[in-house]
Amino acid sequence: MPPPDAARYATIHKARSTFAVAPNLLDYGAACAAFSWDRARKDLSDLPSGGLNIAYEAVDRHARGPRAERVALRWIGKAGERRDITYRELAASTNRFANALQSMGAKAGDGVFVLLGRVPELYVAMLGALKAKCVVSPLFSAFGPEPIATRMEIGEARVLVTTEALYRRKVEALRERLPKLDCVILVDADQDGEGTLSWRKLTQASSETFEIQATDPQETALLHFTSGTTGRPKGVIHVHEAVVTHYMTGLYALDLHENDRFWCTADPGWVTGTSYGVIAPLVHGVTNIVVEAEFDAPTWYGVLAQDKVSVWYTAPTAIRMMMKLGAAAVKDYDLSALRFAASVGEPLNAEAVVWGMEAFGMPFHDNWWQTETGGIMIANFASMDIKPGSMGRPLPGIEAAIVRRNSDGGVETVSAGEEGELALRSGWPSMMRGYLHEEARYKKCFLGEWYLTGDLARCDQDGYFWFVGRADDVIKSSGHLIGPFEVESALMEHPAVAEAAVIGKPDPIAGEIVKAFVALRLGFDADEAMRKELLGHARKRLGAAVAPKEIEFRVNLPKTRSGKIMRRLLKARELGMPEGDLSTLESDER
Ligand code: ATP
Ligand code: MG
Repeated sequence: MPPPDAARYATIHKARSTFAVAPNLLDYGAACAAFSWDRARKDLSDLPSGGLNIAYEAVDRHARGPRAERVALRWIGKAGERRDITYRELAASTNRFANALQSMGAKAGDGVFVLLGRVPELYVAMLGALKAKCVVSPLFSAFGPEPIATRMEIGEARVLVTTEALYRRKVEALRERLPKLDCVILVDADQDGEGTLSWRKLTQASSETFEIQATDPQETALLHFTSGTTGRPKGVIHVHEAVVTHYMTGLYALDLHENDRFWCTADPGWVTGTSYGVIAPLVHGVTNIVVEAEFDAPTWYGVLAQDKVSVWYTAPTAIRMMMKLGAAAVKDYDLSALRFAASVGEPLNAEAVVWGMEAFGMPFHDNWWQTETGGIMIANFASMDIKPGSMGRPLPGIEAAIVRRNSDGGVETVSAGEEGELALRSGWPSMMRGYLHEEARYKKCFLGEWYLTGDLARCDQDGYFWFVGRADDVIKSSGHLIGPFEVESALMEHPAVAEAAVIGKPDPIAGEIVKAFVALRLGFDADEAMRKELLGHARKRLGAAVAPKEIEFRVNLPKTRSGKIMRRLLKARELGMPEGDLSTLESDER
């Protein structure tokens, strides 16, 4: 395996004199040395009744202090309508909902599922339920009936908050499968119906004062389902204490400052959209921009400009879509307020990091984490020199290592530059506390002090981590271990390539050969000449042993609804194998 090709893209140096505001983390070494989770927790308030509650940290402590009249949520609806909700108003509406839940008999630990688009009630329902100490599980509203019912079944949903249309289309017919579901609250219904309650009636009848009961930091707060990229989604359990990680990563990885306007483009149906689309910005008391519409470049650039977004957190798929349209499309917008741009969810190709410079005048700062880790673990910080293609360095308080399993069942760390499994030393606050109903699978993630992530990576001499691929996706060809990300990145460097996904295809001689699926940018033809050109380009870049032997063109690549390329589906189809769980599949262009 060739070493990470950092030299191909020059390191992006960050000169201190160019910072518009001083980054929260200026000296990485000093910050790591001084860091302790106990100290981070002291920056948060204790709950007056005792313990730690996410919703108190996110809402009430600001509503009771000088930030009360600051806009907590700026909601931008699909038709361009807008609504600003201050911290004081958010405290009142979440109190009403918490009271409503209690009046219906909802108790601590009860499952409250939320199936809504990005409308204000989504945020109120999630935070209100956390105040009532219920376990919140946000579902992506574009899910079909089956994935919704399955998730509510295994999460033992007691309450569902949704809309009339979503309920009729997706839940009603399957309700008998959900015997524990005794309240369905419709946010747009004026009257109660058969088996449904009106949100408006309920919340209007409830008091806007509410005291959160003492909350043990170890009480379960959230149930999140993974993206289903590698198989059936897992239900991941998180506790209230996770808010300490949300706070700390908002400070260091997203560099949130007092007057920021922050926009996380992810839907709260995915962990990113909850940890960073709801919790972290509110815990920092900044203005959180919520955009109801799905991706559309002019809308997005319009929001960045008009709403003066200063910190922006998005994902590689969206960045690749913007790249398809070209940097020139950004130039008509005044993005002078934008100070920091970050990305998560999939490997961010070096090409995309550098494109950020061209289009937005700043690189995209890649960071890495998982549903299981609850918050950002490895990041390119604002003050840090960036090696395009690297995920960055571990957050203060996080110890990451590259390990290999040894013959006596333990793990050993490997030398700099060598490939192995990415492992994290257990013990940060937002670490998952379990996979729901899958105890054995949960236990298998841990070896000694290490949590094993299932991702393969390398760490270079400077302590920068480089993603190689998911352990399941790595290709073994003629004795070489090939990480799909490296091959995909090399293909992406070709000007004709918009997206690429690489799989191992069984081969009697090599064991596996590398096969690439490629979507071209507009204006390029998917013909034989292009295939030859791309094969040649990859061979030149990667060498014959690593370059793909086959290329197949696709208009689009299959992705999860959170925007991740589903290599396992490409592989299953290639091999004529069962397609597996497709509940999170979005685009399905063959
Ligand atoms: P499932 O576990 O159900 O297969 P998933 O792993 O895609 O789905 P998530 O928890 O949403 O579910 O995603 C975490 C994974 O996404 C990581 O383990 C990693 O493989 C990938 N990922 C996230 N951020 C990055 C990044 N910056 N670079 C590379 N990979 C990333
Ligand atoms: Mg995973």
